[in-house]
Order: sequence, then structure tokens, then C-alpha cells
Amino acid sequence: MNYNKKSVEDIDVSGKKVLVRCDFNVPMKDGVITDAKRIIGALPTIKYLLEHNAAVILCSHMGRPHNIMNEKVKLDKKEAKKIAELPEAEQAAATEACLEKAKGDIEKFSLKPVAEKLAELLGQDVIMAKDVVGEDAKAKAAALKPGQVMIIENVRFHAEETKNDPAFAKELASMAEIYVNDAFGTAHRAHASTAGVADYLPAVCGYLIQKEVDVMGKALSEPVRPFVAILGGAKVSDKIGVINNLIEKCDTLIIGGGMAYTFFRALGNTTGTSICEEDKVDMAKELMAKARAKGVNFLIPVDNVIGREYKEDTAYMTIYSDSIPDGWMGLDIGPVTQELFEKTIEGAGTVVWNGPMGVSEWDHFAHGTIGVARAVANSGAISIIGGGDSAAAVEMLGFADKMTHISTGGGASLEFLEGLELPGIACLQDK
Ligand code: AMP
Repeated sequence: MNYNKKSVEDIDVSGKKVLVRCDFNVPMKDGVITDAKRIIGALPTIKYLLEHNAAVILCSHMGRPHNIMNEKVKLDKKEAKKIAELPEAEQAAATEACLEKAKGDIEKFSLKPVAEKLAELLGQDVIMAKDVVGEDAKAKAAALKPGQVMIIENVRFHAEETKNDPAFAKELASMAEIYVNDAFGTAHRAHASTAGVADYLPAVCGYLIQKEVDVMGKALSEPVRPFVAILGGAKVSDKIGVINNLIEKCDTLIIGGGMAYTFFRALGNTTGTSICEEDKVDMAKELMAKARAKGVNFLIPVDNVIGREYKEDTAYMTIYSDSIPDGWMGLDIGPVTQELFEKTIEGAGTVVWNGPMGVSEWDHFAHGTIGVARAVANSGAISIIGGGDSAAAVEMLGFADKMTHISTGGGASLEFLEGLELPGIACLQDK
């Protein structure tokens, strides 16, 4: 896959209407944005376009709302199925009640708070359209002048968005002359606003996607060695593709978290009640054999912090063993493993990390993840954190500034590291 894509700097945007797909899927509580990081992350691209005399039309999704057409809510499939199973006499009232409840989505998932925050950050007005590709959005886009910014409503108010419906993509495209994708978090999805729209407009990337592709692409193609990959998290099944691809490229592969226990089983060790995917044990054996054949140093925990139950306040202890006793579950790597992993990370030239070393949400089982985060931060290596829980841990611990790159997309960065083609990037013009 060619990741050498044209960016906003490779196309003349002056006097043009530019549709920018952002990732404004920000966390909200009671209508208030609790973390504006994603909006701040979009500013460099937006500012570049404004400084270069473009008229900027922003779009994004937010959450998973009901479909909304002409300010009317539509039932989703699950709800409609449930209602269809009710006695006929009850269906009308149930539909009405359901629609009434769903109406809140129009406000709950509106991008209006994003427009307000963006206006504050940019220090200029941000025009908010009432719809996505309706009369209001189209009229406002038509009247938009260079140097002005507008935002259309949540693209997922339309079911056609996630279906990558060509007619809907064409409607989106009809408001602009150039398309810029700057939403890395959804680049692994072939949706209308992330990929389909590029069939109708010259398409380039923004600075956010450019940085993701540059840093992660370089780590995969020409890493500073030794290249250490650290994978954790709950399930090995989610990351088989990533492990498989990284074995081809890295010098050391560290496995922690719940997924380690499938490898324990593959080695004939006991795993007690630990999370373990029986149907992936053979695959784990194959992956270890492949690592051996490639000369990759494959590290899994040698000791563990185990708990009685999957509960925050469960009884727990450390066992200096890579076998878990009956009735206990592995919930974190042990101190000896932590030291071993930290030492390995200290000597790395490049580190890629995705997934916690244990149930890091709970204090007793967070030590392994904290230790690894600290070691990566202090390693001096090129450090890439692949979104999700590990990114959250790094930020919470105050190590974010010490990392080379924290990916803005958990799922997208995993697919990137897996070597898959991301539709939201593949659709952009090559350099
Ligand atoms: P992932 O989304 O695959 O990166 O997984 C992150 C989740 O894995 C977190 O919610 C952790 O609590 C969970 N996790 C990590 N280690 C374990 C473990 N040993 N047992 C159960 N869950 C775990």
C-alpha cells in the first residue's frame, strides 16, 4: 500500500470550497465537551486552509445516533424488530414511545457544542448547519466565503454514511471542490465521508493523517533498531494480524495482558480462570514458531499478579511462576516480568505499543502497565503508542509529552500496524 499521499500543501486551495473530514467524536457529559483534544488536533489543518484563502466546510461523526431525516428520528433495526414482535395492538404506542425517547439524539449527538468550542479556539465564527446534506447545509455552503468556516451536522444522522452510499457521498461532495481527510480514527472505515466522497473530488490528507502515516510508516519500513513491539490487552484474536505482521519486522515482541494466557496454554502451562481463547491456542503456537524461525525475541510473562475473581476489590497475590493455579486468574504481569520488559525497552531504538499489560483500570493490577509506560517514556527510543487504552494510560500518567507519537485512532492504528490498506487513506491522491 502506498502511503505517500498528497497533503493540503500539494494542492491549490485558494478561493476553493474545501470539505474536511475531521474526527470530532469528542467525549461529552450533559451537553458539555469533557476533552477537546480532538478539536485541538484538527486546528493545524483548518488554520492552514484558512490562511491559504479557502472556504472550509467541516464534517464529522459523533457517537452512534439514530438516523434522523428532516429533523425526524427513525427507529433503528433492533428497535423495529422488537416492536414487530409485539402484539399488533401494542405496536403503534410502542413505536411512538420509542421515537419520543430517540428524539433526544438530535440534541445529544449534534455537533453544535463542537462548533462553539471550535469558534472559541479559532477566535472566529463557525457557522453551524442544521442538517448534513439538506437545504440548510447546501445554502450555507453555497454562501460560504474564503476565510470562513462552517460545520455540517453529524454525518451519522444518515444511515447512508456508514453504508458508503454513493448518492449520499455525491451530495456531500457537491458542496465543495476539494476533499481533505484528516480523521485518522475513522480511516479504517470505508464510509461516505471517509472514502466515498473521494470518488467525486480531488482528495488529499490533512496534517493529522500525514503525521500518523509518516511516523508509523517509517517505523514499519525503516525502524531504528532494535525494534521492540509491545502488545497487550484482552484478546489475542483482536491482534493476531498485528502480531503476524510485526514478527516480520521487529527484533523483540513483548506480549502482556490477557492475551498472554493463550500463549501460556500454547506452551502447556495452566491458566486457571484467566481469560484464554481455547480456539486460538494453535494459532499462538504457530505465531511462536514463526517468531523462532525469524529470530525474533519473543517475551511473555514469567510471573503474574493473580486474582480470585474479575473484580476490582478481589483477593490477589503475586506468584513467581508462569503457571496459574486453579481458581485464580492472571490480571497483571508480575514484578520480575516488569523488570525484564523494562530492561528490554530501555535498549530499544523504536518501540510500538498497543494494549495494557493487565487490568490497568484497577489500581492493584495497573503496575505492569505503569512500568511499561514509564520505561517507554524514558527509553529515548522512537516511541509510538497505538491509541486506545495504552494511549489513555500514557496520558493519565503524564508521559504523553515524552512519546514520539500517540496515535489518534485505536482501531485504525491497529489495522495500519497489521499492514492492511486503510480505505480513508487509500482513496487519497498519490504524491
Ligand atoms: P484491548 O482493547 O484489546 O487493548 O484490551 C484492553 C482491555 O484489556 C482493558 O480493558 C483491560 O482491562 C483488559 N485486560 C488486560 N489484561 C487483562 C487480563 N489479564 N485479564 C482480563 N482483561 C485484561
